[in-house]
Amino acid sequence: MSNKSHRPGTPSRHLATAALALLLAACADTPIQQAHAESPARTPEPTTPPPLATPVVQPPVAENQTFAQWKQEFRQRALAAGIDQTLFDRAFAGVEPNPGILRADSSQPEFTRPVWEYLDGALSSTRIARAQRLLQEHAATLAEIEQRYGVDRHILVAIWGLESNFGSNMGDNYVIRALATLAHQGRRPDFAHAQLLAALEILQRGDISPEGMLGSWAGAMGQTQFIPTTYNSYAVDFDGDRKRDIWNSSADALASAANYLRVSNWQSEQPWGAEVSLAGDFDYALADMSIRKPIAEWATLGVRNARGGPLQLADGGQAASLLLPAGYQGPAFLVLNNFRSILRYNNSTSYALAIGLLAERIQGKGEVVASWPTDDQPLARSERLELQERLKAVGFDPGGVDGIIGANTRQALRNFQIALGLPADGYPSKPLLEKLRSF
Ligand code: CA
Repeated sequence: MSNKSHRPGTPSRHLATAALALLLAACADTPIQQAHAESPARTPEPTTPPPLATPVVQPPVAENQTFAQWKQEFRQRALAAGIDQTLFDRAFAGVEPNPGILRADSSQPEFTRPVWEYLDGALSSTRIARAQRLLQEHAATLAEIEQRYGVDRHILVAIWGLESNFGSNMGDNYVIRALATLAHQGRRPDFAHAQLLAALEILQRGDISPEGMLGSWAGAMGQTQFIPTTYNSYAVDFDGDRKRDIWNSSADALASAANYLRVSNWQSEQPWGAEVSLAGDFDYALADMSIRKPIAEWATLGVRNARGGPLQLADGGQAASLLLPAGYQGPAFLVLNNFRSILRYNNSTSYALAIGLLAERIQGKGEVVASWPTDDQPLARSERLELQERLKAVGFDPGGVDGIIGANTRQALRNFQIALGLPADGYPSKPLLEKLRSF
């Protein structure tokens, strides 16, 4: 469906804009303003570790270079950076670009899987049963890892399960070929160059052979799906063979994941969060990962446990945020510091939620009480673009029209919802798009 055919352009739109502007002016003291003025409750971002995607400045790639030309040029740079030429030539032997990887890199899927379907797959009974078996099988190693890194074994097994299906699905791409393809012609060549150089350093140290260096099309490697720069900073040898082998050693993989969480401010003995329920008059504008409050304060604002009783989360002085993964009509979760540590591993709230819930399911807990709004399918990409265009047209700047619902789009949505007296959850639903179409 063409987005342009839905571009707003009727004269009434200007009237609507003026009306909304007036409404907004009248709402200048609404909770939106308060929510963003609550800086004392905010905590600084964790300082370690650097994000997975470490930007590295590299000379720009000349356009229209053939792969052979690119490889020749990159070889010089790699050698200058200390890569042995025999190692380089062995690693690159027979390497040609992979068109499938370029297609994956440039694809922008039209449809998004609803969070409840993602969770169904992540928390399947097969995965839970396998996790429980592996928890027993690796009990001794997990106990040692827990002791050394202070990270709960259930969380580690959950990460293992979602990253690589417990090591059985690491991706079958030769990482050097995948990254060389992306460095030559991908969307983020600088990033791919940095990863490729880091991958060569891993080979040069002898942690893994070129044949064994398998991963996803994007270069995420082994049972933990670490990209090479993350691997170089955080992978550990736990089984004592002097190789940090996240491909073949589950002990190395689990300990590497634990090490990464530890440096991402994991707090031992603390929960990731919990499902909660909200009082009927709850101000949904407060449900945003950027808004952090002590648990006790959330309780005074009408946050209760999932079944409506008093909140039972231990408050270790933690700054908690309220998460509504499917908007105000779906389940609500209060998420704590450890949830943010999981986000450092993979910056997706659906992923972090799946890890937290899977870790609980393994222990016979973690059932979500509230029901998901399964009749309300997520917006497709063309609809998200249309939503942003229409928000912009009625005077609520989404900060760019890119089909990505980021902080600016959510804020614009909230302002629009407040102007119309709707629950201000900032969630891009179809009914909201319909409302925008009526202006
Ligand atoms: Ca090892």
